[in-house]
Amino acid sequence: MPMIQISILFSIGLLDTVSKLGAAARFVNDIFITEETNLLDANENLINKKRCMAILLHEYFTKQIILASVIHNGKTYNLRKDALDAFRLLLKQRKPSATLSVITQQIKSVYDEISIANFVVFLQTLLKEKDKLLKDLNGFKSDFKRIDNQDTYARLLDKVRGCPDLCPCCKRPCDVDHTQIKWKPGSQYNEHRCLSGHTLRAMNGYKFEITEEASLFMCEQIRDDNVIVIGPTRYQWLQFKKEHPDWIFDSALNDVGLNRLHGKFLTVWAKIGPKPCEKYRMKYVTHNIPQKIVHKTYHFILLLDASRSMHGDRWDHLMAAVQEFVRRRSELKTNDRITIIVFSDKIETPFTDKEIQNVDVSQIPYLDGCTSLVLHSHVDGEDCYPESELDQILEAHDTVIKRFWTLALGDEKSTSMKTLEKINEKMKGAFYDRETSAGKNQGA
Ligand SMILES: [Zn+2]
Ligand SMILES: [Zn+2]
Repeated sequence: MPMIQISILFSIGLLDTVSKLGAAARFVNDIFITEETNLLDANENLINKKRCMAILLHEYFTKQIILASVIHNGKTYNLRKDALDAFRLLLKQRKPSATLSVITQQIKSVYDEISIANFVVFLQTLLKEKDKLLKDLNGFKSDFKRIDNQDTYARLLDKVRGCPDLCPCCKRPCDVDHTQIKWKPGSQYNEHRCLSGHTLRAMNGYKFEITEEASLFMCEQIRDDNVIVIGPTRYQWLQFKKEHPDWIFDSALNDVGLNRLHGKFLTVWAKIGPKPCEKYRMKYVTHNIPQKIVHKTYHFILLLDASRSMHGDRWDHLMAAVQEFVRRRSELKTNDRITIIVFSDKIETPFTDKEIQNVDVSQIPYLDGCTSLVLHSHVDGEDCYPESELDQILEAHDTVIKRFWTLALGDEKSTSMKTLEKINEKMKGAFYDRETSAGKNQGA
């Protein structure tokens, strides 16, 4: 690098000087005059002179003076008069800076090893290096964004204005000083958090499902099994937390601190609450009526396709889904009853009007055979839409069918899937295929 700096600054001047002093090829041999005491042959003297050229160059850059002779290997070589004058003049006109002198001094060992046979070629090579260096420099992207691989910019911004992230539930800003920890804000070990407490969820438009009361709970007060609804999706709070791993929702305050903060927010809410209530269409209240979740009791009728098309994995998945359904409804301690009908080209009813908690799913038989009955029938290998059967069902039972679900396990582009969707539409049901039903916490 220092050599390159030298080339940029002085090669042109040196080249200029040298070109006036004779033929390039003989330059080194010509400007150093062998003393008569040097009892060496021409070749040995030439070798010494090449070293002298390197010494002269070093002298020019470091000593601030050009001596009339150069001594190498105990032999003295006098600088030809015009060369001496030319180098001294050059030194006056283009005096190397103190910094350059220091740098050159530091790499003296390099100068001690080199010999310069053709000074012109040497200088031209340096000049070429300069071009290459400039090209490299121009090609090197040095904007701050590129060299900021430690996220320094984001950290400084965070330091100045705080973390810009908001709690995905109550929208209170994160108040962690992320600059204290090396990891990127939001990554493991440097998660976002409302250390000084979350705010009322109503501030972000959260309301209770049935009463439509603005929710005056803070995020810290939500239990893991509470269900929250965002758009079309119902989440258990635990699931919601899992889907935001960049946040820690656990309270950093103790109960006393949390209650005090809650009290402050309620005071503020009493004054400003009507506005967000208007904006989010919530019922304005200053305290929430305790929400008693009452699970209604139903009689569920499951119609399960047990034909050959359900062979293997599909049947196992279906049974797992039924098992999960039975488990969840049983947990609610309602008095649900269930009838399970399996069909292929025949029908069996392993459970009729049975208490849901007493159902042993392993007793549901897989029938094999073709699908040809009930809602899902084949005509020449194609699914047909059983309009008249649906009409019959609706006519006879429409008033008692509270909800209709269709759970599909097949390929979404298949004809039977489209038929199922059409049936579902007619019955005003909720349609789930295996993809979208996974990972959702469907509130019962
Ligand atoms: Zn929050
Ligand atoms: Zn943060």
